[in-house]
Amino acid sequence: MADKTLFEKIMVGDIPADIMYEDEYCVVIKDAVPQAPTHLLIIPRKPISMLAKADLDDKELLGHLLTVANDMAKKTGIDEAFRVVINNGAGAGQTVFHLHLHLLGNKKFVENNLSF
Ligand code: 5GP
Repeated sequence: MADKTLFEKIMVGDIPADIMYEDEYCVVIKDAVPQAPTHLLIIPRKPISMLAKADLDDKELLGHLLTVANDMAKKTGIDEAFRVVINNGAGAGQTVFHLHLHLLGNKKFVENNLSF
């Protein structure tokens, strides 16, 4: 069996993290190296390595992750201006190969600059 991903280890409590929310399908934690005053990671419990590996059966799960991102933006008071980012593949900056959405807020974003 493949080794657990970093995020699976966090989800089972082997590695500590600030858990902000969890449900049957996903866990939301604070990013350990925040790129904005609010920087959360929305992580599906299902270990899909990257968005490109998700399939049609994951359609509802993917929608759920966005809905949770939206709820977390409201809960953390950043619902006026926030950014949701998915890095897909090493070439796009992905470092943890377990799908996750970055939710970033409370930062002045440069218009049309799609970096963190
Ligand atoms: P990626 O680069 O794959 O899109 O994002 C991975 C994110 O996970 C990075 O923003 C990084 O700071 C965060 N990260 C890496 N290791 C840990 C950890 O042990 N705990 C937490 N909470 N975040 C981590």
